[in-house]
Amino acid sequence: MAQGGSDEDVCLICHEASPPPIQSGCACRGSAGLAHLGCRVTAAQTLAQRKGDAQWWWTCQTCEQGFTGAMCMGLANAWWSEVRDRGAEDPGRLSAAGNLASSLFSQGRYAEAGNMQREVLAVLTRVLGAEHHNTLVTVGNLALSLSYQGKHAEAEEMLREGLAVMRRVRGAEDPDTLAIAGNLANSLLSRGKYAEAEEMQRELLAVMKRVRGVEHPDTLTTTGNLASSLTGQEKYAEAEKMEREVLAVMKRVRGAEHPDTLATAINLALSVSRQGKYEEAIRMQREVLAARTRVLGAEHRETLATADNLASSLFYQGNCAEAEEMQREVLAALQRVLGAEHPDTVTAASNLAISLADQEKHAEAEEMQRKVLVLRKQVLGAEHRDTLTTADNLALALLCQGKHAEAEKIDREVFAVMKRVRGAEHPDTLSAAGNLASCLSRQGKYAEAIQMQREVLATQKRVLGAEHSDVLIAVNNLERWLFEQGEHAEEEFKGSVGAERQAGAGAAAKEPEAQLEEGEESEVHATRKRAAEGSHACADASKRTKQ
Ligand SMILES: [Zn+2]
Ligand SMILES: [Zn+2]
Repeated sequence: MAQGGSDEDVCLICHEASPPPIQSGCACRGSAGLAHLGCRVTAAQTLAQRKGDAQWWWTCQTCEQGFTGAMCMGLANAWWSEVRDRGAEDPGRLSAAGNLASSLFSQGRYAEAGNMQREVLAVLTRVLGAEHHNTLVTVGNLALSLSYQGKHAEAEEMLREGLAVMRRVRGAEDPDTLAIAGNLANSLLSRGKYAEAEEMQRELLAVMKRVRGVEHPDTLTTTGNLASSLTGQEKYAEAEKMEREVLAVMKRVRGAEHPDTLATAINLALSVSRQGKYEEAIRMQREVLAARTRVLGAEHRETLATADNLASSLFYQGNCAEAEEMQREVLAALQRVLGAEHPDTVTAASNLAISLADQEKHAEAEEMQRKVLVLRKQVLGAEHRDTLTTADNLALALLCQGKHAEAEKIDREVFAVMKRVRGAEHPDTLSAAGNLASCLSRQGKYAEAIQMQREVLATQKRVLGAEHSDVLIAVNNLERWLFEQGEHAEEEFKGSVGAERQAGAGAAAKEPEAQLEEGEESEVHATRKRAAEGSHACADASKRTKQ
């Protein structure tokens, strides 16, 4: 942003250099984008009066792209202060309010945006009716503001109602119906309902390709969101392929630094990272981080999300110290900007706790996981997958410090909830049972541990197949505990597995972590898994016990 005092730095409207003009944030770059806020305000007022068209409050006359950043906010505030004293139903006031809400949203001020949208929605519903285009657009925007505040349930309910009305009244292919269906699919995505989101997005995409064409921005956005749903279900290769196609078109059509292009690049980097291609992912994430810092500023939510995702890739690459440092910075910034209870902040805290555990800083990890657990229970409820994962990770931190009794208590609770909520044969339930068995064995409660592990193994063999890595880990644990109990391993387990390299792996908690990434509408959940290799610390501890 340092423009120095060169002769070039004059306002494109009045040609004065003092006071220094600011960037417009549209597609006009460098000196072509420099203007005074006051000069833009005057121009917008004049054009609005002469042509009766309000769009110059948010659109650049030269490039016809929207303003962003300080220029966008400044104009939105100026327009609002001009009309705010008019009656509640004045069309100009409603437009200015909607515009200010969008501007606040783009600055990450979601609560303020949501409050304005609620007011506008009440008036529009009364004046224009629930089925009017403008009302529906406002429903979609309000739902998005709610989602970004972590109020996903309220957003989803609002969108389901809107969609039902639209399908009945205007049919499935109406642009407004498509828009609200897209918003609902995104809301499902945010809540981790990936399969349902995928199904909606595939339907939506088929209609969009037919009605709007393959390169239409909405088609691209939908493709990108579908890829995110695939990522959520660990279908990384298919997601990567889709994201590469979208990115190529975006770069060509919108330019390399457009927010949507950057959002697509970051989603692609996540899919690449998830497949273990860390070096490529890290390179892409560093590029996007630099671009976002330049375009949005270092403390914008999207910039921070990128930094957290980069930290995750560094962590998986084995660069734990750099990851930890970056995660601490991100967490501090998120606490400042969004508050300690925002879902993004909680996720960042959880990710940091995992890095700490991996570096055997178990006491600090425990402390952080406890805080995260309290917040997740409050915000997501005790039965949400992320809450249970956090409980699992807390149990692991306790176990690693020899606090067996509390770990066992937590493992039992998690197992009971999983069994009830997901069913006895769900892989997560089986993994929770394995964790509990592992915890019992650490305390020398071999009889119960072996009994549990046998049941888990039988189910896993049936559900996952005999070759699955979870089965091998279970066989290995069982063999070891039988040995430790002073028995000989039974015939059926002999020769299935080598030495005890995976010892204690059953205690590995899974960690699905969502770090949000979004463009205008798209968002992705970075699933961060705590896989078997994440628990070396504990594996070592149990080896020591054995020898
Ligand atoms: Zn000027
Ligand atoms: Zn422009």
